Amino acid sequence: MNAIQLSERQEKIIEIVKNNEPITSSDIAGKLELTRSTIRPDLSILTMADILDAKPKVGYFYTGKSGFSYIAKAIEEIKVSDVQAVPVVIEEERSLYDTIVLMFLEDVSSVFITNNGILSGVVSRKDLLKSSIGGVDLNKLPIGMIMTRMPNIVTVEPKDRVLEAAMKLIEHEIDSLPVIREVDKKNKEYKIIGRITKTNITRLFLELGKGK
Ligand code: ADP
Repeated sequence: MNAIQLSERQEKIIEIVKNNEPITSSDIAGKLELTRSTIRPDLSILTMADILDAKPKVGYFYTGKSGFSYIAKAIEEIKVSDVQAVPVVIEEERSLYDTIVLMFLEDVSSVFITNNGILSGVVSRKDLLKSSIGGVDLNKLPIGMIMTRMPNIVTVEPKDRVLEAAMKLIEHEIDSLPVIREVDKKNKEYKIIGRITKTNITRLFLELGKGK
């Protein structure tokens, strides 16, 4: 199974190399009754995808790998900044009620909390449900009272690999991560500049699967 869409000619080339390796590009072209320059782009795609290996003066080999390593290579290079979404944020003195309304309006599953614009916590859907069934006054309770707070917030930076973000989501069993920029190293203060969610990662998975 190939994760990238190969053309019929590329599939034929793979078969020829499998059965005749090592084989030069002119011999491959000869078997297809095509010119070397016609198949040159195919050969570069197949070597780039790590399906074929080219040894100078010897010819082409079949690596035995499917196109999956092409996907792996692509994922390696994708940064958090390439997929991050706009964060949904509220100040920690705002009420539980306001946070619930914001969550509905913005259609998100977690809201990031700030103290004077600096990241101070996170609340999830279940955090809000849990607090709401406890008989509290939703309009009076500040969201800061129930949030998961710093320094326990798991974060990423825009330059981090998206693979790292995916690992953090799985490892910590959470749905979203704030993308942060450090504003004060000594006091560990961060501004929230984006968010990464399981939805972002699923969308990326779909795009890579389609070969975009
Ligand atoms: P839910 O609670 O709706 O299933 P999550 O799985 O995202 O949603 O959250 C699980 C718990 O982890 C919640 O208590 C939430 O406050 C906390 N949490 C969510 N995101 C983070 C994060 N990035 N860092 C630390 N804790 C988080």
